Amino acid sequence: MNKTMLALLSAALLTTAAACQNNSNAQPAAVQLQTAPVQQPASGDAAKTPEQSQTAGAGKAAEPAPAKPAGDAGGAAPTTVPTPAQPEKTALQPAAKLYKMNPKTYDIVPIDPAAASKNVVLLTFDDGPRNKEVLASILDTLDKHKAKAIFFVNGYLVKQKPELLKLIQERGHAIGNHSWDHIDLKKESKDKVDQQIGDVQKIVKEVTGSAPQFFRPPFGSGSDDVRAKAKQENMLYMTWSNGSLDWEMTVKKNDPNKVVSNVLGQLRGGSNILMHELPWTAQALDPLLTQLEEKQFGFVDPHLIDINQ
Ligand SMILES: [Zn+2]
Repeated sequence: MNKTMLALLSAALLTTAAACQNNSNAQPAAVQLQTAPVQQPASGDAAKTPEQSQTAGAGKAAEPAPAKPAGDAGGAAPTTVPTPAQPEKTALQPAAKLYKMNPKTYDIVPIDPAAASKNVVLLTFDDGPRNKEVLASILDTLDKHKAKAIFFVNGYLVKQKPELLKLIQERGHAIGNHSWDHIDLKKESKDKVDQQIGDVQKIVKEVTGSAPQFFRPPFGSGSDDVRAKAKQENMLYMTWSNGSLDWEMTVKKNDPNKVVSNVLGQLRGGSNILMHELPWTAQALDPLLTQLEEKQFGFVDPHLIDINQ
């Protein structure tokens, strides 16, 4: 399993295409409004700094996945992927917001449970944009599953590869601010925090025409100054509620199957899933999204999340 990075990457690219054939129901069946039993929130995860933690989520990964939705929703309007109530043709109009974030757990929940499914996840990819091939694989897999994600980017990488940031935007995904240097902002002065966050707003706006509306601090490590700056820049501050632990893997020691099982082991309605722009995550993505669809989970379009909460 653990070959070289190149072998993995090639495999990822190949299997992304090849996996189509044993995926007879790429479209999830109707998402039922009667949703899965409420899982205990992984409250600890949100408060910890799991990007550094060796244990966060590890215990949870061993737990069984939540049961599938029980019973019939009684013909309630089924949807595959949450869509705005307005016709898609009004492309210039902002989409109606259907979701909000639970500020304690960072889960994504319907604003009106009658109007949107609870059985959704938010897909996020941090620490890019850095590698064209890995990113292309992730973008292709997201397209295959008609999923939109948030890419939390670092300014120093955007400066090096602005064309990759443009690519993310052109494919319809949301771009989030993950600080300029990927440093622990909690340890920095207010001026430094403002610069680390503000400079990313500027460069992303220069490259794509609009500034990020989502913010995630590196290592999940924030402070009052960090939150205040995110708010001042009109961004929704979040960490995550479901850690794939892909960041603990290395080129020499990684396992895409474990990325999948780590996520599924913590899965609940609204899971805010933390992943990274890494080769083994790119490889895990197609089987992960397929299994989420089989469990009747949809993928929240970040553009449908109300950031003014
Ligand atoms: Zn990060």
